[in-house]
Amino acid sequence: MALDLETREQLIDMVRRFVAERLRPIEAKVAEDDAVPAEVVEEMKGLGLFGLSIPEEFGGLGLNMEEECLVGIELGRASPAFRSVFGTNVGIGSQGLVMFGTDDQKAKWLPGIASGEIVTSFALTEPEAGSDSGAVQTRATRDGDDYVLNGGKRFITNAGKASLFTVMARTNPDAKGGSGVSAFLVPRDLPGLEVSKPEKKMGQQGAHIHDVTFDNVRVPAWNRLGEEGEGFKVAMQVLDRGRLHISAVCVGVAERLIADCVAYASERKQFGAPLASFQMVQAMIADSKTEALAARALVLETARLRDTGAGVTLEAAAAKLFASEMVGRVADRAVQIFGGAGYVADYGIERLYRDVRIFRIYEGASEIQKLVIARETLKRGG
Ligand SMILES: Cc1cc2nc3c(=O)[nH]c(=O)nc-3n(C[C@H](O)[C@H](O)[C@H](O)COP(=O)(O)OP(=O)(O)OC[C@H]3O[C@@H](n4cnc5c(N)ncnc54)[C@H](O)[C@@H]3O)c2cc1C
Repeated sequence: MALDLETREQLIDMVRRFVAERLRPIEAKVAEDDAVPAEVVEEMKGLGLFGLSIPEEFGGLGLNMEEECLVGIELGRASPAFRSVFGTNVGIGSQGLVMFGTDDQKAKWLPGIASGEIVTSFALTEPEAGSDSGAVQTRATRDGDDYVLNGGKRFITNAGKASLFTVMARTNPDAKGGSGVSAFLVPRDLPGLEVSKPEKKMGQQGAHIHDVTFDNVRVPAWNRLGEEGEGFKVAMQVLDRGRLHISAVCVGVAERLIADCVAYASERKQFGAPLASFQMVQAMIADSKTEALAARALVLETARLRDTGAGVTLEAAAAKLFASEMVGRVADRAVQIFGGAGYVADYGIERLYRDVRIFRIYEGASEIQKLVIARETLKRGG
């Protein structure tokens, strides 16, 4: 159920203030340390950020998609690494359980996910199964009341801190593609599950990805999410949602960058006048603003459509494609408007330029979004 407008405004205002007062001032230090301070993580828990999308009956805020996107836009105004701390709990790490879990599975894990006591990860990608995610080779072999998992995942966000993984594994080796894949809720402490040290990345320092390996990990059949062979369906529905959430964050980063550009271009003078008075600089600001507005409209309209119960595979892919490409262009123009300062670390623009690059790759690269959009458009006949 949607929040009343006043409560919604209060929530957004609270997140906006937290971002401005607590997160923005420590962005550079978090990037340098490659870590978000523990006390800030505790504050995130206190504000309910880990449980934004978890139903209220399990202790979450139970936001609908439009509300979650409005919060996502606010979160995008600080380094996206902060959002990543709880991003898997809000999105890909929890929503399979919310959408496909049994009542008992939900009762067991959702309250801890909502409070942040349990950190979750979503483990789909493998060395040989990236864009072709239906090609997962991690095996889940039925043995009595258990499944035995063997294989490896890579680039798994928050795996280092996760105590619960949603893992896609092949239960039917004879079935081609996604149809032989099932989803499992796998606790971190099961023997045989190993998490590697974090990868060094281009951006979003403070957010971490790891390899996860399964060596004869015995998972009770009770932990299967949905029916056997339904794993790919779980993954795709989780990603439809996740793509919208990411698109909202892209809008937030773009709006923040535009505000930074306006402030800088108004202050900095060349040829005896502020940069903002030069029409070629104004054109860059106009292009960025127009594209950010278009992305905002597309993201929120798609979120509202999803909230009606409609399928939004096409629209969510279009939002992810447009918003992630848009924020890349906005960040590039921001570097240009800042000139040399845009290239220098102290101003923070080059950091955001690096941070946003991943949005065009994860949760389906731009090329994959185009495949989805074309497939769905052809299916719909226009
Ligand atoms: C920071 C980060 C966080 C991540 N978090 C997670 C996570 O939490 N869980 C998880 O499961 N995964 C995660 N991933 C993995 C991510 O989803 C994949 O990297 C992504 O889906 C792309 O897969 P790939 O890297 O194997 O690239 P590839 O599939 O090898 O693709 C390489 C390039 O080829 C293009 N390409 C591939 N196939 C086609 C085609 N048919 N037509 C046209 N072009 C094509 C792609 O678009 C891309 O440009 C994360 C990755 C990173 C870097």
